[in-house]
Amino acid sequence: MISNIQNFIEKAFAGRWISGSTVQDAIADSKMFNSKGIKTIINYLGEAFINDYEINEAVDTYLRLIRYISENKIDADISLKPTQLGLLKDVDALKSNYSKIVTEARKAKIFVWLDMEEADYVDATIQLYLSELEGAGVGICIQSYLKRSEDDIKKILPKGAIIRLVKGAYSSTKNKSFNTREAVTANYSKLMGMLFSQGAEFTLGTHDINMINDALVLNKEYGRKVTYAMLKGINNKYSLGLSKSGNKVAIYLPFGKRWIAYSYRRLKEAGHIKLILKSLMKSQKLK
Ligand SMILES: Cc1cc2nc3c(=O)[nH]c(=O)nc-3n(C[C@H](O)[C@H](O)[C@H](O)COP(=O)(O)OP(=O)(O)OC[C@H]3O[C@@H](n4cnc5c(N)ncnc54)[C@H](O)[C@@H]3O)c2cc1C
Repeated sequence: MISNIQNFIEKAFAGRWISGSTVQDAIADSKMFNSKGIKTIINYLGEAFINDYEINEAVDTYLRLIRYISENKIDADISLKPTQLGLLKDVDALKSNYSKIVTEARKAKIFVWLDMEEADYVDATIQLYLSELEGAGVGICIQSYLKRSEDDIKKILPKGAIIRLVKGAYSSTKNKSFNTREAVTANYSKLMGMLFSQGAEFTLGTHDINMINDALVLNKEYGRKVTYAMLKGINNKYSLGLSKSGNKVAIYLPFGKRWIAYSYRRLKEAGHIKLILKSLMKSQKLK
């Protein structure tokens, strides 16, 4: 009974943003997006793991995901959270877990992203990223809400970093971050300009149509390899139009049982009760 209720809530509430609870769900969703010319970026849900069981299970799940993507010939990247691979437990284990996943992904020609989490983990995440940067096939998320991000881009872009620029789903203290939507967006615009002028290949992770329109104009001048990436369940019909008009588009697809923290961040961004009610009534699918 309790698990039926749990399944109902999971499907109705989180179904809008999440592929489902299993690797197979993420593969099936990816096939659907691929059939529309859109690639996916698959993330296994979960964060802030501190016990070995959870960390090892996350590593095994990513390795299984790599096998499934490869066997099913899916056009998908994967995206890892450092705190699910051991950042809060043991930095050496984190490095070896990341390296193990990247090594297997490289064999299968699958691109590996590092998600960016709270401000306190940025240094460790960048360090981790740099440890595998030479071998290629890896990217890192950078958040425009953080004041340090401009310097981070200046530091890693000349080393060949492939950046996924987002506004940021976390909050931080005033001295570290921009705290109004306008300031975060203005910094996004500035950092996006840096990527266009200095980066050959990057991903813009945003649903902000003004930013995307600016990027489309900028790319007429620069001709960069740009991917426009959005989250599953947020304006995916717009992404389809963007893809149909010849742009590279990716949808970030989380899967797994630990959907609460992720869904909470999406609801906070949506910012109104109507969306919550709509989520409970139906899951938004790309038609
Ligand atoms: C591909 C991808 C990867 C990401 N990876 C990370 C990461 O690693 N680390 C991280 O901190 N953050 C990540 N994010 C989340 C990101 O930081 C933002 O929190 C999120 O994208 C909302 O910001 P926005 O750029 O869409 O702009 P906003 O200014 O927040 O929104 C612009 C418009 O988009 C729509 N919109 C935005 N969010 C919602 C929502 N939840 N529901 C309904 N409509 C909405 C609204 O119409 C809004 O007016 C990622 C986002 C994407 C798209």
